[in-house]
Amino acid sequence: MQSSYITSAQKAEQLPDLKGLPEVAFIGRSNCGKSSLLNALLRRDGLARESKTPGRTQMVNFFQCEDGPKKLLLVDLPGYGFSAHGKDVRTHWQELLEAYTRRPSVRQFLFLIDSRRVPDLDQEDMDLLSYVVRLGPVTVVLTKIDKANQSEQALAKNRIDGVLKEAQATGAKIALVSAVKGKGMDALRKAVFSHMERV
Ligand code: GDP
Repeated sequence: MQSSYITSAQKAEQLPDLKGLPEVAFIGRSNCGKSSLLNALLRRDGLARESKTPGRTQMVNFFQCEDGPKKLLLVDLPGYGFSAHGKDVRTHWQELLEAYTRRPSVRQFLFLIDSRRVPDLDQEDMDLLSYVVRLGPVTVVLTKIDKANQSEQALAKNRIDGVLKEAQATGAKIALVSAVKGKGMDALRKAVFSHMERV
């Protein structure tokens, strides 16, 4: 499979027309492990570093994967966690997210949460998760599970189960992964790339 960085959009008007290629979108708080997960999924170490280029952190970044005639876009949405940024960044982020979610080609959202943060989820995490589960199929991806022991992992999964039930997100799934150790990555890769389409 081949993958490449396509483009970035800073504003709603810049969101590209990519001919209806299917898209899987990645969303999560800054530092949740989004770039590492993208790189691990694509088995391309440096690829998502592109989205870490200063200035691109508040952009929507598009990566394309190709496997023969089949294609898929992986879309890196800007990280959230606004206490460090302020109101303007938050407003800009919400506008960009809303514009992005109006695209008809989004097949799945991956909502990433650092597994160690699960006990400390705040209102911002909850609001956003409840918003995203209304937009389409969602998998909550608990990241960095190599840093949590078995019982911490089980507790984290239970808590997210509860949050999803409360949000009445009955179809939402939960994945536990470690981009560093590879745990859970095969299953997630399979789920993500099942959205590839011949275009
Ligand atoms: P982003 O800001 O969401 O793109 O997060 P990064 O992918 O840059 O990761 C943030 C930090 O978490 C970095 O120091 C990574 O090395 C670390 N990290 C990411 N994924 C994992 C993982 O699966 N296991 C461990 N132990 N650390 C990770």
